Amino acid sequence: MHDSNCIFCRIVSGEIPSRKAYEDEEVLAFHDIQPIAPVHVLVIPKKHVASLEDVGDQHQGLLGKMLLVAPRIAREQGSEDGFRVIVNAGRVGRQEVFHLHLHVLGGKEPLGAMLPRPRQ
Ligand code: 5GP
Ligand code: ZN
Repeated sequence: MHDSNCIFCRIVSGEIPSRKAYEDEEVLAFHDIQPIAPVHVLVIPKKHVASLEDVGDQHQGLLGKMLLVAPRIAREQGSEDGFRVIVNAGRVGRQEVFHLHLHVLGGKEPLGAMLPRPRQ
């Protein structure tokens, strides 16, 4: 499913350019436009799913794939000694883009506290 009003669907279609880090038939990973860590990659399904709030049994394989590619992407981007995965979901989770995504955060040095620094 493609939602023409969705920024990330438009990245999947190539309508909005992105710096790709990984791609297969199900998922796409690209660098966040406003990185909050030296490595900050977003992993998204190619098909539109709005939020982790909305997933069901039919998404089990997709969710597994998204998580499975995270360590590979982190390593390939130079985060060789660990990384963090964050999923913001819904209003309380401060999700801003309503197309499901994992944030893969890393770098050479340990990240900050539990939560990344808030955006302005
Ligand atoms: P959320 O708060 O929804 O979990 O995070 C959405 C993320 O998408 C933010 O970190 C934001 O910087 C990133 N983002 C928003 N628009 C774009 C875009 O057009 N291109 C890229 N590469 N990242 C984007
Ligand atoms: Zn979408």
